[in-house]
Amino acid sequence: MGNWKSFHFVFLSMLSVLIGTFLTGCNKGPEKAQFKALSSVEGLKKHSLEFKKRVEKVCDGVYVAIGYGLANSIMIEGDDGVIIVDTLESVETARAVRREFEKITKKPVAAVIYTHYHPDHVFGASVFADRPDIPVYAHASTSALIDRSVSVLRPVITRRSMRMFGCFLPDDAIVNAGIGMRLAIDKNSTIGFVRPNHTFSDTLSDTVAGIRITLVHAPGETPDQLFVWLPDKKTILAGDNIYKTFPNLYTIRGTAYRDVKKWVASLDKMRAFHPEFLVPSHTGPIRGADEIYRVLTDYRDAIEYIHEQTVRGMNMGMTPDELVEYVKLPPRLAKSPYLQEYYGTVAWSVRSLFDGYLGWFDGNPTNIFPLSPIEKARHMADLAGGIDALMKKAEDAAEKGDFQWVLNLTDYLLCLSPGNKEAKSLRVKALTELGKRSANPNARHYYLTCAAELGQGLVIWEPGKELGRPKPEMVHSLPMDRFFDAMVVNLDPVKSADVNITVGFIFPDTGEHYSVTVRQGVCEVRPEAALKPDITVKIKSSVWKEMLAKLRNPIVTIATKCDIRGGKLSFLKFMALFDPVYDKPAELQSLLGKSNL
Ligand SMILES: [Zn+2]
Repeated sequence: MGNWKSFHFVFLSMLSVLIGTFLTGCNKGPEKAQFKALSSVEGLKKHSLEFKKRVEKVCDGVYVAIGYGLANSIMIEGDDGVIIVDTLESVETARAVRREFEKITKKPVAAVIYTHYHPDHVFGASVFADRPDIPVYAHASTSALIDRSVSVLRPVITRRSMRMFGCFLPDDAIVNAGIGMRLAIDKNSTIGFVRPNHTFSDTLSDTVAGIRITLVHAPGETPDQLFVWLPDKKTILAGDNIYKTFPNLYTIRGTAYRDVKKWVASLDKMRAFHPEFLVPSHTGPIRGADEIYRVLTDYRDAIEYIHEQTVRGMNMGMTPDELVEYVKLPPRLAKSPYLQEYYGTVAWSVRSLFDGYLGWFDGNPTNIFPLSPIEKARHMADLAGGIDALMKKAEDAAEKGDFQWVLNLTDYLLCLSPGNKEAKSLRVKALTELGKRSANPNARHYYLTCAAELGQGLVIWEPGKELGRPKPEMVHSLPMDRFFDAMVVNLDPVKSADVNITVGFIFPDTGEHYSVTVRQGVCEVRPEAALKPDITVKIKSSVWKEMLAKLRNPIVTIATKCDIRGGKLSFLKFMALFDPVYDKPAELQSLLGKSNL
């Protein structure tokens, strides 16, 4: 054993010497190879050419409509029908594309394919899948991902999306959206999602209208992402795993962690097919096997590089703020026209990777229990010599063009005094300047929309101002569980603090039962008949769903469409416990500051 131990020690020492030498030998590292991406506002303006409105013929029988909505819609012409891949963000944009496609061929739609669940790919579907017998292909997880995005997280994701896509900005404030000219959604838009009826897990091969298709699950920008391989045309329809800008490894509208190693593997799957034509669902098609292979390789290398160098930095003990300074693309990749930061950015990707692996704690003990916003603001004001001195510092920073610092300082100022007009107008100026200078449309729109919210009182999320109206069929197809999920996250902890009540729901048309118990600030929902309900409500499931989706007036619906035992008034009081709130509570606004975000 003694011999073994000493061998073990010697071996380890040798190994560490070897690794040490190896590392020293390679220690040019990313530090020296760092290179900033070349994105600029001028470059962003040129990038608009990418979205010139057109229907482009890619190869025999494959056409892509670009510039109609945020995404592309692709038509594959077969013997006696066409396949539509991705359907845009609304019925209105999809209709415009369908009219253009029909100028090429009047053959009927034989199938619809969703590359993934994002609204800009699925919400115009009813225009193409206009008969119930039309197959709609998607990955097995697509439906559930849509259901989640339109239920519990809808308020926050919508609000942040509206800012990120600049939905409330005037036309002249927008250059383009990086992956399209604009998200074409407004309050008159109709949402026409059709639920997939042909789903698969890994791959699915089929022949539709004489066209051979293979769908390949390719998790990346979303976990349900797929690409379409057309073997007879040597063509890949790539979905959103590649487009002509740096990939959105994280989106500032808010997303769960996007597994970037799977994204790389999905790009490698595409490379292995050696396609001669590649049609992404945003930006123009790419032609030529060599060119496609080169672009796909650069794209996967960029993601791989960001992943590896972020993890390397994390293992050195770097915090997200430090990693952002440390990880930059090497020159070969930073120069690629496919990797300019017009949609995703390296900095956001690095932060997302840290969070995906290690969660919110950056490792710095300062941040185990950090000061509350108000305490920190008070200390900062003290440090500056009082609120007036802090204000003066913010004005000086604006004078010098240090607008990021103005945002930091006005965070403190507005936290201490939410109505401070000077601080507000200084902040509006900083947001506007940062917006105008930003070459990244997502950041640009977010800054400019927040400037309008703070400066002009723009309200982007309140009842009746929601963008896009869902078709009733879409609302009916959403599972009942999701409606209760969305309802209970509105439970008011103050109003319900002393409430103990159980309501039994009976949906006679579907035979579903739900038991909803409010127990002093907590709501428990069970998909079963209530044992001893205080109130029992019998209602048609479609009516209940329409009411919760705000397609029906709740008071009228409860008064006229519900069969209630236990008192209508009591039930109205129960429902009032779940009234949605659209802003921070007043007591927190004075504590944290209102809307200075
Ligand atoms: Zn998309």
